[in-house]
Amino acid sequence: METRIEIKLTDITGERVDAIVNAANTSLLGGGGVDGAIHQAAGPELLEECRLMHGCPTGGAKLTRGYRLFAKYVIHTVGPVWQGGKHNEDELLADCYRNCLKLAQEHGIKTVAFPCISTGVYRFPIERAAAIALKTIDENLAGSGVEKVVFVCFDEVNHRAYLDRV
Ligand code: ADP
Repeated sequence: METRIEIKLTDITGERVDAIVNAANTSLLGGGGVDGAIHQAAGPELLEECRLMHGCPTGGAKLTRGYRLFAKYVIHTVGPVWQGGKHNEDELLADCYRNCLKLAQEHGIKTVAFPCISTGVYRFPIERAAAIALKTIDENLAGSGVEKVVFVCFDEVNHRAYLDRV
């Protein structure tokens, strides 16, 4: 099967894919950054469904519908807060990508868009996060049934970090 990886500089809420990934917090009750943008675009029904989820641990992922988004689903994942690198941050970030792919596989999702998880208010170093994102997807894509992964960057620095690694 042909799998495609795309790297884009855009707003993830407009992506025409089966599922977009949300960099949420453990409450799943909304926040700023990409989380705020996704809730704004999806409409209030998204928060209603999130309330039923009872949160999500760091590194985990949970799936909801996409409501007013083009994407049929939102996969909510919780990235680690960067605390200097000695608190299992790398592994927890890789867990986010792995668990999102696993959910995508379970739900027959063929196309998925990821934001740069943890690189906003959670302050994960951008280059390091890009390397983990690309490596983890590369290692776990085969056999998942996912045919296209889009890495959606929202600023030039993240965009460059991804482009430099492919
Ligand atoms: P985290 O708490 O995981 O750091 P943030 O939402 O603060 O989450 O940031 C994660 C990344 O999402 C950052 O690189 C930020 O620039 C990016 N981002 C913010 N808004 C959007 C958006 N609308 N589409 C895509 N990426 C976004």
